[in-house]
Amino acid sequence: MANQEEIFKKIISHAKEYGFVFQSSEIYDGLSAVYDYGPYGSELKQNLKTYWWKAMVQLHEEIVGLDSAIFMHPTTWKASGHIDAFNDPMIDNKDSKKRYRADVLVEDYCAKIEAKIDKEIKKAAKRFGDSFDEATFRSTNPRVLGYQEKIETILSRLGKSLEAEDLGDVKALIEELEIACPVSGSKNWTEVRQFNLMFGTKMGSTAEGSTDLYLRPETAQGIFVNFLNVQKTARMKIPFGIAQTGKAFRNEIVARQFIFRMREFEQMEMQFFVAPGDEMKWYEYWKETRMKWHESLGFGQEFYRFHDHEKLAHYANAAADIEFKFPFGFKEVEGIHSRTDYDLSKHQEFSGKKLQYFDPERNEHYVPYVVETSIGLDRLFLLVMSQCFKEESYKTGDREETRTVLNLPPFLAPVKASIMPLVKKDGLPEKAREIFKKLSLNFSVQYDEKDSIGKRYRRQDAIGTPFCITVDHDTVDSNTVTLRDRDNMTQERISIDSLEEKLRSKVSMEAQLGSLI
Ligand code: ATP
Repeated sequence: MANQEEIFKKIISHAKEYGFVFQSSEIYDGLSAVYDYGPYGSELKQNLKTYWWKAMVQLHEEIVGLDSAIFMHPTTWKASGHIDAFNDPMIDNKDSKKRYRADVLVEDYCAKIEAKIDKEIKKAAKRFGDSFDEATFRSTNPRVLGYQEKIETILSRLGKSLEAEDLGDVKALIEELEIACPVSGSKNWTEVRQFNLMFGTKMGSTAEGSTDLYLRPETAQGIFVNFLNVQKTARMKIPFGIAQTGKAFRNEIVARQFIFRMREFEQMEMQFFVAPGDEMKWYEYWKETRMKWHESLGFGQEFYRFHDHEKLAHYANAAADIEFKFPFGFKEVEGIHSRTDYDLSKHQEFSGKKLQYFDPERNEHYVPYVVETSIGLDRLFLLVMSQCFKEESYKTGDREETRTVLNLPPFLAPVKASIMPLVKKDGLPEKAREIFKKLSLNFSVQYDEKDSIGKRYRRQDAIGTPFCITVDHDTVDSNTVTLRDRDNMTQERISIDSLEEKLRSKVSMEAQLGSLI
């Protein structure tokens, strides 16, 4: 069994080889932490976005959509606090000249302790066999408890120092833990400094007449500045939400782990406006609702957990991450934040325009409070790829064979079915194309006649196509085809007339959405 690091490397090369993700501007040696999505990647990404959009906007009568511009008036970022406070603590290693995020160095240190806990658990599970109870072991084993306490002490100190902007103590912590540079192995560190993550650009043609702008580091501000436009035109009553998806840009200090941390990425955010005092109720509601959405993907509850924030962003009074167990450990995929009335109040202050709501039930005007759900589409994409990438061995007759398969939930698969003539003659391609044309009206399907049928199956397995439809010599007379299932590789003969219904029942998003209501 390959270790997790090797599996992750395989996922990255699989994503490239099969047209999911390419490095941006690869022919010029690439641009660091910027990626392009290929033919199958763009379909999968679109499906994930649609699933989010439908679950959030279509299924909620109290949520509407928005598509705001990337460029915004520069004062937006002064008001939101991003110019003054959207910083990450960075530290350089003097020997390797490599730059790191100071908090990530400490978190990685803790992840190593966590790996030790996992090791203890595996050892004990082996020793005790069926009678092993992980929860009891975790809460009683002295070694595990010791490790756990160590992690908590370190993270709590890190949280407090960052909160108080005590960068000296962050450095002291790195030194006390004897954290070494992963490249040089040296502990020769610079001071910890703050680094602003926004990209700047200019709008206008002349140097004197141009305006300094920022590429938005989050989509949320486009929602806040449009709060009243949306509330009035869509006649929304509090509580209500505004959702949008779109690009965001952050000049990340260290961009690592493929599409996990990019400099240009896509967010799917929803801001839920509530009456002051109701925010904690809604915060809990959205934590639970978003976790249910993740679980609906069917990857198993054990891959998810909440992480409550110790250090709160300047705008929040409560925040939690939904973390997923990536091949490189549990990491954030989505944030749920109670943002108070911070953003709307600040925009009111800086713009001089009232951003208030008249609540007919309370008979008063107020600046609403906001609960946000914010998920990275690219991170979600990586989550799905990591979870679905499998290398399997199986038997055909006496032969041991292997295949690489992406067992994507069918409603997310880039191609729902591939239609294949068994051979390129005897009228089979024409018949297959006829089926392709008919199905393509409702499904993303593919026509594939190149190579042997076995090779074609393997290729479709590798891009996660749930069904292969093969047209053979019996098709013309019997009006039937074979339908091969990606997961169990079995084939059944079914009539061409029932194909559409069969596919719909297996690959449509409808049933999936139904599990959410
Ligand atoms: P991190 O702690 O990993 O830097 P964050 O807490 O700054 O993330 P948020 O500002 O809460 O992230 O953004 C919401 C979501 O946007 C994150 O949960 C993540 O999925 C996604 N995201 C944030 N930064 C990036 C990035 N550089 N590349 C890809 N996705 C990102």
